[in-house]
Amino acid sequence: MKRVLITGAAGFLGSHLCDRFIREGFHVIGMDNLITGSLKNIEHLYKLKEFEFYHHDVSKFVHVPGKLDYILHFASPASPIDYLKIPIQTLKVGSLGTHNLLGLAKSKKACILVASTSEVYGDPLVHPQNEDYWGHVNPVGPRGVYDEAKRFQEAITMAYHTYHNLETRIVRIFNTYGPRMRLNDGRVLPAFIGQALRGEDLTIFGDGSQTRSFCYVDDLIEGIYRLLMSDYTNPMNIGNPDEISIKDFAEEIIRLTGTTQKIIYKELPTDDPKQRQPDITRAKKILGWEPKIKRSEGLKITYEYFKNLSPEELYNTAHRSFEKKEQF
Ligand code: UDP
Repeated sequence: MKRVLITGAAGFLGSHLCDRFIREGFHVIGMDNLITGSLKNIEHLYKLKEFEFYHHDVSKFVHVPGKLDYILHFASPASPIDYLKIPIQTLKVGSLGTHNLLGLAKSKKACILVASTSEVYGDPLVHPQNEDYWGHVNPVGPRGVYDEAKRFQEAITMAYHTYHNLETRIVRIFNTYGPRMRLNDGRVLPAFIGQALRGEDLTIFGDGSQTRSFCYVDDLIEGIYRLLMSDYTNPMNIGNPDEISIKDFAEEIIRLTGTTQKIIYKELPTDDPKQRQPDITRAKKILGWEPKIKRSEGLKITYEYFKNLSPEELYNTAHRSFEKKEQF
C-alpha cells in the first residue's frame, strides 16, 4: 500500500486531499497543528485503518515512522485575516516547515508536492497570470509574510530538486471554494454567505471592481492529483479562469441566498490585488486538466454546506484559534 503524508490535513484543502487519497487506495497520514484547521473536517476518517493523524507543527522537526511514497505540504494559514493575526507562524510554516518536509522527503526518497499560491504574483501587472510571470509583490506589506514565504518555498523546493535530485512538484493555487471552508476566515465567499445567513449586510471592500476567479474544490483536487502523478517539476497554475468582479460576485450571492440585505462598502485592505485570473494553458497541455464545475453549480453545493452549520458555528465569528497568544 502506498503511503502519503498530508500536512494541513484538518484544513479546507488538506481534508479534501485526505478523502481523495483514501479513495485512491492510499494509507494516509494526516498532520496538523490545528491553529486554523478543525478536526471536524476529518472526523469521518478516524474509524478507517488506512488513516492516522498526528497533531504536530511542521515548523518543528518532523518525524514519521515507516516508509513514505508521497508528501503533500498544505499546512499554512491561507487568508489575509490569518496573515495579519499570525504573521510569524505564516512565515515559519512556509519556510522552516517546507525545509523540514523536504528533508523528510529526501530521507524517505518520497516525491513531495508543495502548495504554492497565486499570491506569488502579488498585485499582478500581467493578466491573466502565466507561470513565467515573476510577480509584483510588496515584501513588507501585510500579505508579504505569506507571499514571500511561498516564494521562498518555491525556491527551496527547486533547490532540493536540482541539488538533491528530489522528486518535487509545485502547484500555484488560485482562489478555491467549497464545503469545509472556514466560515470566519475573512475570505470573501464565506464572508458573504455568512452575512446572508445571519441577515447582515454584505461588505464589499473598495468599490468591488477588483476581480477574482473561483475554482470549485473538487476540480482543484483533481488538478493537484494529476500534477503529483505527472513528472512535471516547474510551477503549475491550478485554478478556474472564470473571472468575476467582487461586486458581481456579491450580487450572485444575493440571488443565491435570497437575502434582502444590502451591499455596504468598506475600505480596501492594503495591497489587495486588483485582478486575478489563472492562465491554465500549461495544465491543459501537460495534465489534460481543466475545471469542469461551473460557479453556479459549485456555489449551490457550498451554500448547502454553510446552511447546515449549527447556529453556534454560524454566529461564532471570533477566531477561536487566535485566543491564545501566538507562540514563537
Ligand atoms: N472582500 C470583500 N469583502 C469581504 C471579504 C473580502 O470585498 O467581506 C474582497 C477582498 O478585498 C478581495 C476579494 O474580496 O479583493 C477576495 O478576498 P479573499 O480574502 O477571499 O482572498 P484574496 O484573493 O484577496 O486572497
